[in-house]
Amino acid sequence: MTTTSKHPETLALHGGSYRKDTTTNAVAVPIYQTTSYEFNSVEHASNLFSLKDLGNIYSRIMNPTNAVLEERLAAIEGGAVALALSSGQAASAFSIQNVAQAGDNIVCSTDIYGGTWNLFNNTLRAQGIDVRFADPSDPENFRKLTDDKTRAFYAETLPNPKLTVFPIEEVANIGRSLGIPLIVDNTAAPLSCKPFDYGAAVVVHSLTKWIGGHGTSVGGAIIDGANFDWTKFPERQPNFNQPDPSYWGWVLGKVVPEVLGANIAYAVRARFVLLRDLGSAISPNNAFNIIQGLETLPLRIKQHNSNALEVAEFLKGHDQVSKVTFPKFAEGKAKENADKYLNDNYGSMIGIEVKNGVEGGKAFIDALQLHYHVANIGDSRSLAIHPASTTHSQLSAEEQLKAGVTPGYVRLCVGIEHVEDIIEDLKIGLDAASKATTTAAA
Ligand code: PLP
Repeated sequence: MTTTSKHPETLALHGGSYRKDTTTNAVAVPIYQTTSYEFNSVEHASNLFSLKDLGNIYSRIMNPTNAVLEERLAAIEGGAVALALSSGQAASAFSIQNVAQAGDNIVCSTDIYGGTWNLFNNTLRAQGIDVRFADPSDPENFRKLTDDKTRAFYAETLPNPKLTVFPIEEVANIGRSLGIPLIVDNTAAPLSCKPFDYGAAVVVHSLTKWIGGHGTSVGGAIIDGANFDWTKFPERQPNFNQPDPSYWGWVLGKVVPEVLGANIAYAVRARFVLLRDLGSAISPNNAFNIIQGLETLPLRIKQHNSNALEVAEFLKGHDQVSKVTFPKFAEGKAKENADKYLNDNYGSMIGIEVKNGVEGGKAFIDALQLHYHVANIGDSRSLAIHPASTTHSQLSAEEQLKAGVTPGYVRLCVGIEHVEDIIEDLKIGLDAASKATTTAAA
């Protein structure tokens, strides 16, 4: 089915080439629980290995269930091809390792998920890839930190806890003028933001969050926009312009478009070099679970976003809340970016500053009955966490503030329950927080 012109609600169910299982006519995507695939002949096997034919060889590198997920992800993001991986962390790591080696560097937004921060600042650095952190409030900071070894820019569309939307187009344009791709983690804004529309070259997702949506399965993905010329500045992208010793000395930036007729050297290298060698494959079972989530993603996202808007308005007027962080309430350039990139959908995360600092925040969380107290985002259920006593507790007070975590800061991730029930639960939490004030003062 040609689906490129279809709407997200349709793509989530029909995107890609899968219509039915060709052997059984099954409509739901089967779980192909197999490690390997029989070759029809020696010639067939040889053509698969040389990429003359694309087909299944071994499930570490490709699997038909995973392929359905990959094609649908590419369709909903408006990219060319996707690679599903075992986790969002694997996707972030691959996205950089695909372009950078020891001695190279990347420039990364300061506003990123803590796990990505650890991966980049410690693990990648220990492997010799220098990561330079740029304050995204001025896109020019990315240019300032660039040198001739810079291989990529990296950012998140809607990072928490600050919830300040990243200036994708501005930074992508700077990168393109220098031969540097912008890689965007779009985990928190699926469907709302389409980073490829603004010049991003690669999109990363943790599928564990909104796309899976049900809190059952960990997964990640890299999506190649096929919109970046890896050969334009050959010295900038050695992985695509020098012979690859593990692939018959092919220069992937040239050979892939010639052999496959598509500018997807980035995705091909991620699969046939990194996934082959590092092996962070997603299981077909998890891919199946995530496909179930993806099929209803457009419906759920609408409910998440409209609930969050209503909850944010409620909290804004509450006397026990001193501050509400929500992209719609941003000001100045941050508001302009929220409007431009989120297309009137402001996401489902809300930050609130509960009065009475740490004690208020703790009392609020402990009193909640409907919300789950978990270190996760993007579940269909409403979630809450108090970062100062959990995720950010190992940071100094000063470091917490730098990360946007004040003592009474609570992160809410609004689910798809009835909004009145969500608000009722928040009222219980805020009431407890107000009593914590009384206790502390007594
Ligand atoms: N990117 C973002 C924005 C995240 O919030 C997370 C996890 O919380 C990840 C990546 C990592 O994803 P995973 O937990 O699937 O490895």
